[in-house]
Amino acid sequence: MTRKINFNAGPAGLPLPVLERAQKELLDFEGTGMSILEHSHRGKDYGRVHEGTLALFSELMGLPKTHDALLVQGGASLQFAMLPMNFLKPGASADYLVTGHWAKLALQEARRAGTARAAADCKDGDGAYTRLPRPEEVKVDPKAAYLHLTTNNTIYGTQWNEFPDPKGVPLVADMSSDILSRPPQAEKFALIYAGAQKNLGPAGLALVAVNREWLKEARADVPDILRYQVHLDKKSLAHTPPTFAVYLVWLTLGWIKANGGAAAMAVRNQAKADLLYAALDRLSGFYRVPAAKEARSRMNALFRAPSPELDEAFCAEAAKAGMAGLKGHRATGGMRASLYNAVSLDDVKTLVAFAEDFARRRG
Ligand SMILES: *Cc1c(COP(=O)(O)O)cnc(C)c1O
Repeated sequence: MTRKINFNAGPAGLPLPVLERAQKELLDFEGTGMSILEHSHRGKDYGRVHEGTLALFSELMGLPKTHDALLVQGGASLQFAMLPMNFLKPGASADYLVTGHWAKLALQEARRAGTARAAADCKDGDGAYTRLPRPEEVKVDPKAAYLHLTTNNTIYGTQWNEFPDPKGVPLVADMSSDILSRPPQAEKFALIYAGAQKNLGPAGLALVAVNREWLKEARADVPDILRYQVHLDKKSLAHTPPTFAVYLVWLTLGWIKANGGAAAMAVRNQAKADLLYAALDRLSGFYRVPAAKEARSRMNALFRAPSPELDEAFCAEAAKAGMAGLKGHRATGGMRASLYNAVSLDDVKTLVAFAEDFARRRG
């Protein structure tokens, strides 16, 4: 078996020890005589996994006592809809920072539920998002129901470092593509959500952290399955959770903890990103990084060769050399190397060596 170096944007590579453990105990979970896939979600064996996941997530996120963790099916896109359904009341308006594809979709979903506006939109003249709004470009409505931002723009390769001042408005974050890649500053947010399949495990669920006090203001005239309060009251067991996905998230969180938690992930991820961007800058006669320097993402590094033909050759040759997932999103073209927690510094060194060699041969 040869495993590829996986630069997929999501679903993405998982830590090898997580997959090995899942494989080892697929038929018999911790000596219970059955697979975790076959356990009742009401039983104590799955219960250990479920509660362990919520506890580990809360711990690694550094959630303040005011916040609770939830597991919700449906991924981040369901959160785009659930958030306004719960917190956008008739007559109110919500603010969104439009910094990329997913941020724009989040705003569009809010507009189906009520009134929402862009408190900033940093689209370039050619329709791409290569930077983040400057503080003076963020025009928060002090009466907004909440201010929503996307901490890392997966498709355009930009990432917030310092979050804008929400001016007293509850701040909500989509952290899907950089959750637990760095300390999340959870205390700044009224609600955080993330689809699991980039940094935390497989597809199939979202992890949510919500401030209980703020939750009291949520609407109750929403179907139960879409109410955060119901998920909280039922300890994320209002219905059958995606038990196998939760189990893999549990293992992944355990791996993050064993490797030093969010702070250690941040150090590793900074080193990986620095290595790659330094090489691209050194080879700037060949490669171009579209993201503004101060906004470059440590999770999704976008770059291009001098022509679409060379981009294609880069991806094809890299694939032959064992590196998968480097083709950029269809909205941007070029290359995208996703450097989530499970990607190692050695993986990035291999990519850098390949990129140097490719530029030498084709430049
Ligand atoms: C991938 C992604 C989404 C969409 O996630 P789904 O789980 O597919 O709904 C939303 N936001 C961000 C920032 C993402 O990277």
